[in-house]
Amino acid sequence: MPASTHPEVMDKLVSLAKRRGFIFQSSEIYGGAGSVWDYGPLGVELKKNLKDLWWRAMVRQRDDIEGLDAAILMHPRTWEASGHVAGFTDPLVDCKACKGRFRADKLEDARCPQKPSKQPGQHETCQLTEPRLFNLMFKTFMGPVEESAATVYLRPETAQGIFVNFLNVQQSSRQKVPFGIAQIGKAFRNEITPGNFIFRTREFEQMEMQFFVEPGTDMEWFEQWRAARWAWHLSLGLREDRLRWHQHEAGELAHYARAAYDVTFDFGGSLGFQEIEGIHNRSDFDLTQHQQFSGKKLEYFDAVGNKRYVPYVIETSVGADRTTLAVLVNGYREEAVPGEDEGRVVLGLHPSLAPVKAGVFPLTKKDGQPEMAHALARELRAAFPVDVDESGSIGKRYRRQDEVGTPWCITVDGQSTTDQTVTIRDRDTLQQVRVAAGQVKGWLLERLHG
Ligand code: ATP
Repeated sequence: MPASTHPEVMDKLVSLAKRRGFIFQSSEIYGGAGSVWDYGPLGVELKKNLKDLWWRAMVRQRDDIEGLDAAILMHPRTWEASGHVAGFTDPLVDCKACKGRFRADKLEDARCPQKPSKQPGQHETCQLTEPRLFNLMFKTFMGPVEESAATVYLRPETAQGIFVNFLNVQQSSRQKVPFGIAQIGKAFRNEITPGNFIFRTREFEQMEMQFFVEPGTDMEWFEQWRAARWAWHLSLGLREDRLRWHQHEAGELAHYARAAYDVTFDFGGSLGFQEIEGIHNRSDFDLTQHQQFSGKKLEYFDAVGNKRYVPYVIETSVGADRTTLAVLVNGYREEAVPGEDEGRVVLGLHPSLAPVKAGVFPLTKKDGQPEMAHALARELRAAFPVDVDESGSIGKRYRRQDEVGTPWCITVDGQSTTDQTVTIRDRDTLQQVRVAAGQVKGWLLERLHG
C-alpha cells in the first residue's frame, strides 16, 4: 500500500485518548499488557454509539435480519469444521539479531527495532529465519483438568456462532431465505505483530452479519451488500476520499470464496489505506462444513419452490475497534481560530457518534446562572449525555469540548436569567444562535436525528 497523503496523527491521538479518557493501555500500572486496550468514560460511549448505529442499520431497521449473541467459548469441533485449527495461521519469521518477530507476509508494514528505522531484513545485520506457520487462536481448558481433550479456544471471529445457530434462528423467527443473522461480540487473535494503537489488537470486537441466500442469487446480493456497507461508512462521516475498495484477486481469495472486497480507510502517515471491513461471498462452505462435522443437516426447505438446499452466505465483517480508530483519525484536526492566538484541536465526530452531545456552561458562578445551567442539563440528560462545565474561561471550556468532539455548547449568560434564552454554539462553524431554553432539547434532537 502506498504511504498516505494525509498526516500522521496516531501519536497525537494516543495521547489525546489517554488524557481525555477515551482509551487507556490495559494494566498500565503493571507496565501494560501487549496490545490490549481499555476504553475509558468517553471511549466506551463512542464505541457504544458506533455499535448502536450498526445494530440499528443491520437489525432494528430491517425485517430480514435477526440479532444473536452467541457465547465466546464453543465446542472445539467448531474450529475444526471452520478450518481454523488447521489453517488459521500466519507465517512467522524471527530475527536472530534483534529477537524481533514479524509476519512474513507483512514485512513491508513492519519496522526493525534497529536504528535507523528500516523494514526487517534490510539492515546488514538482520538474520531472518525461514517463515513457520503460527496458529493465531488462543487456547484454554474447559473444566478443572488441563488436558488436550479439554482444550477449547477463545473464538477468533464471531461468525461461527452464527453458522451453528443458522437453523435455530431461522426456525424460531420463521424467517425465509434470503435473510441474515447479525451479532456484535469479542474475538481474540494471538497476532504476531499487533500494534498501531487499537488498529490490530489481540482482543477486539467484531460486528458481523451473515446473509443466507439461494445459490445463484449470491452475486446479486453480494453487490447489494457492498453498496449498503459503503453507504453505512459514509453515514459515520468518514470522508469519501479516505475510503477505497480493495478487491481480493484470485491468489488472495480463500479457496471457498467466490468474491471478496475490503472497505479500506486511509489512516494517514505510513499506515495508509487499511482494511476496516471485509465483504465476502463464502458460497455454502461454512454450512456444509458444519453439516459434515456435526452430522446434522443444515439445509433450508423452500416451501414455495418445494426444494431443499444449503444456502450460500454473504458475510459483512467489520471491526468495532478499528472503525472507532477510523472515526477518530478521520475527525482529528488542528486549526487556527479567528481572532485568537492559540489554535484548537477538534475531533470532528459525527454528532451521532460524539460521546457527549452538548456542553452546558454558566458564564459566571452567580446570578442564578449555575442553577439554570444545571436545570437545563437535567432536562437534556433524559435524552442524551451532556457535560456541565463551570470552570475556567469560556474559551477554555469550548476547547475542552472541541477536543472530545462535542457538537454543541450551550451558554447560560446574563441575558438568560432574564429572558430564558441561551446561546448554542456549533463546534464546526463556530456560529452561535440564541434559542429559548425550553426549546433547546427539541432543537438538539432535531439536529441529532434529522
Ligand atoms: P487483517 O488482514 O488486518 O489481519 P483480516 O482480514 O484477518 O484482517 P477479518 O478476519 O476479515 O480480518 O476480520 C474482519 C474485521 O475484523 C477486519 O476488517 C477488522 O476490522 C477486524 N479485525 C480483524 N483482526 C483484528 C485485530 N487483530 N484487531 C482489531 N480488529 C481486527
